[in-house]
Amino acid sequence: MALVAVFSDVHGNLEALDAALRDARSHGAERFVCLGDVVGYGADPNACCERIRALGGTVVRGNHDHACSHRVSLDWFNPLAAAAVRWTRLQLTAENRDWLRELPYEAELDGKAHLVHGALHDPRHWPYLFEGADAAPHFPRQTLPLCFVGHTHVPIVFARIGKNVLESRLGAFRLEGSDGAKVVVNVGSVGQPRDGNPKACYVLFDPDEGLVVPRRVEYDAMPTASKILSAGLPKQLAMRLFLGR
Ligand code: ZN
Repeated sequence: MALVAVFSDVHGNLEALDAALRDARSHGAERFVCLGDVVGYGADPNACCERIRALGGTVVRGNHDHACSHRVSLDWFNPLAAAAVRWTRLQLTAENRDWLRELPYEAELDGKAHLVHGALHDPRHWPYLFEGADAAPHFPRQTLPLCFVGHTHVPIVFARIGKNVLESRLGAFRLEGSDGAKVVVNVGSVGQPRDGNPKACYVLFDPDEGLVVPRRVEYDAMPTASKILSAGLPKQLAMRLFLGR
């Protein structure tokens, strides 16, 4: 089975997306899975939709994809996010908006892994898994050994072993078959990492070997930032790309 690139939270950052896709292909990835938030924050929502649509892989719906393609209240978005959603709504082509509107809330990868933006216990409301305790309601819904998530923009692993939930930084690991452990892998963010490292973040997954390998990819965020500024989007959205926060 072909190597799969699993990525999330591109947020309209075309330069980061292209760098991550280039890196994935150079490592032999032939399939691509996107865990949502294709748009929102960045200045290239349409180009990112089109790139990702062309990959032909599974894509699930993030909260920004939903808000940018539906007339929903933005009360629960912070002011920066809400400003970006309003701007993105005006930019999206009808075709890209329709595509975002139809994205599923959750999916599966070949019966090997769940795919969801937030967590499985409430895929339509995108709960955040920041720490082990947050994942407690998620694990009963996880029937497969592995679940890939995004949403927090922080790469991390939660493992439920017996009754305990352990958390750890995301490093390369191999999923061991039959010990009953269940693992959640947050693949971090391509377009707006928030773990203090500004490099684009995603994961290579070998479904045959159960191997998960995180990747960090350097890209030039200057053009990304200047497009954000020229679009009149909040300048903090440009600044944070250099900080990884
Ligand atoms: Zn996001």
